[in-house]
Amino acid sequence: MSTSASIAQALNGIRTRIATSAREAGRDPSSVGLVAVSKFHPQSSVLAALEAGQRLFGENRVQEAAAKFPELRERFPDLRLHIIGGLQTNKALEAVKIADMIESLDRPALSDALARAADRAGRLPGLLVQVNTGDESQKSGVRLEEADAFITDSMTRFGANVRGLMCIPPHDADPTPHFRLLAGMAARHGLPVVSMGMSADFEAAIACGATLVRVGSAIFGARPAHA
Ligand SMILES: *Cc1c(COP(=O)(O)O)cnc(C)c1O
Repeated sequence: MSTSASIAQALNGIRTRIATSAREAGRDPSSVGLVAVSKFHPQSSVLAALEAGQRLFGENRVQEAAAKFPELRERFPDLRLHIIGGLQTNKALEAVKIADMIESLDRPALSDALARAADRAGRLPGLLVQVNTGDESQKSGVRLEEADAFITDSMTRFGANVRGLMCIPPHDADPTPHFRLLAGMAARHGLPVVSMGMSADFEAAIACGATLVRVGSAIFGARPAHA
């Protein structure tokens, strides 16, 4: 497990690399947000990151997020939480209650569930449409051929709550074509947020226009093997 000193140091290193990549791409470093992905890491690790100045976090399971974050939010009211993992419809209400953004909107059934949840909760987080840029059968994300229509429908239904797009390129592929494709799709739809790039490839994502990078292991260390 990582110590708070090593988490603070890793965060600084990632921030420096983000700023350098942004400048190399002719972009303002402040145009790239860092989502610190704390899944499978204890609340104490999140606290270490908060104490090092990090405020934006990503979790891929709603229950884990609900267990770790509400208490921290009381101490750090400007904390922001993104749900980044595939979302089951029966978790929609909980997600709507605890998240500031859901990055994994990928199918009409989930849109229906989120709309109902928003009615009940009286709030709706920001939404990103997850696009399955590699058309991988086992992966969440709307299929490429359905993406434009689904994005348009989502924008009609949820209006300005739809902020942008997210992708996770195939594990064994060069991510750059996927990043370019996603950034181009977001631009076509006039969407400002492009969430792409993880520990291994966030610099390439920034070169392609990422406005959010989701970095886990490079900050918090390796996740437990079963993860
Ligand atoms: C786990 C995860 C990340 C972070 O992955 P690392 O390789 O640890 O940086 C980013 N995005 C999603 C959707 C994830 O599930």
